[in-house]
Amino acid sequence: MKHEELIDFIKDKMSMAHIYQPLLIKELVKCDGAATVRQLAISMLVMDESRIQEYKKIFKRWPEQTLKKHGVLERNKELVSLTTEPMTLEQKSEILQVCEQKIHEYVRKRGEGIWDPFESSPLTKNQRYEVLKRANKRCELCGVKEGDKAYEERLPLHVDHIIPYSKGGATDLANLQALCRKCNQGKGNRDDTDFRIVDTSPE
Ligand SMILES: [Zn+2]
Repeated sequence: MKHEELIDFIKDKMSMAHIYQPLLIKELVKCDGAATVRQLAISMLVMDESRIQEYKKIFKRWPEQTLKKHGVLERNKELVSLTTEPMTLEQKSEILQVCEQKIHEYVRKRGEGIWDPFESSPLTKNQRYEVLKRANKRCELCGVKEGDKAYEERLPLHVDHIIPYSKGGATDLANLQALCRKCNQGKGNRDDTDFRIVDTSPE
């Protein structure tokens, strides 16, 4: 295709169902005309506002809280900062290197299954007990109570990761909720809806 034809296509002939076509052409141009499918997929991901919102939630719920607790970072509205002094090039390189090392060790230990959406995390009996106790043995979405004969098909209650384990959601009480079978199926693994809106104070 000639340059003029491409311009003509973009301006007049391209019918768009989403932003992907111009996005991909832009990315290809930035890469001097050729890119791998992986590079293109990454460029689409970066523009995918729904995924970005999802990762913002993951950030705020999990790594941010842990790193704040240890005094590593602080957040002022949307700006996140390390609490360290300004870094020299050598210090930056050292931090990058030790982080890379930790990622490498973790992936080696857990395997590539950390990205598997169906992998689930082991939950201790005590965590299960604590979550159900906190929820008064009720589904935290629809309120169905454990042992309720009328809703037997929705029971027993399932302890659910609000942010899926596969997306980095921790197996700790802050990220767990009690859901009945129906609500849990309705939620699906890709979602990270926090359903804890029902009153869970003791009766
Ligand atoms: Zn329910």
